[in-house]
Amino acid sequence: MRNPKWNRDEIILALDLYFTLEPGKIHSRNPKIIALSETLNKLPSFIDKPDAARFRNANGTSMKLSNFLAIDQTYSGQGMASFSKLDKEVFDEFKNDIPSLSKIAGNIKSIINDPNLSKELNTLSEENDVDKVSAKEGQILYKLHKYRERNHSLVHKKKAYHLKKHSNLACELCGFDFEKTYGEVGKGFIECHHKSPLYTLAVDTITKLEDLILVCSNCHRMEHRKLNL
Ligand SMILES: [Zn+2]
Ligand SMILES: [Zn+2]
Repeated sequence: MRNPKWNRDEIILALDLYFTLEPGKIHSRNPKIIALSETLNKLPSFIDKPDAARFRNANGTSMKLSNFLAIDQTYSGQGMASFSKLDKEVFDEFKNDIPSLSKIAGNIKSIINDPNLSKELNTLSEENDVDKVSAKEGQILYKLHKYRERNHSLVHKKKAYHLKKHSNLACELCGFDFEKTYGEVGKGFIECHHKSPLYTLAVDTITKLEDLILVCSNCHRMEHRKLNL
């Protein structure tokens, strides 16, 4: 029984710690690695943990950091070469942009440390999500994005505000108007998209009306594909 492969969120968290540690400090007794192992176990990504006792334990976590040593060209020693394609991808994406990595990792951790929000995000259905989540910022922040733009009272306010100002609910990107095309059944229908970049989302960011844009379903999907490029 093998545990699932590390996903992007997990790799981001591990890489964030990696860049703060000297190679000699990468071992399973390092309190920082133990703390990371605990954080990873709280991440609401995997419901299925075939080998729960060993799931992201301190040993496995320190091995992941040793994988980065093998990828890291600035390291002259030897790391563990058994890294995944995704490990290398994420490493290359962030090796020259550690500040962004830290920001994203910090925001992911802020969500993990908020059990209620984590739970809410976990209950978000995957409906409409044929696009596999591969957002640079990981799954959790992408889910937070979706959660934020489905905030009913805010969506309601946004629509009311827009309706008052423009007296229609046409897509702000392409002008499609559900009511015009579909008649009565389309009345009042439009989706809401959160414009803020994913890396800026954290537990304590408050969504404002101007962060939201009203979009038709097609444009909304395309905006989400852009997030997942
Ligand atoms: Zn549109
Ligand atoms: Zn959206």
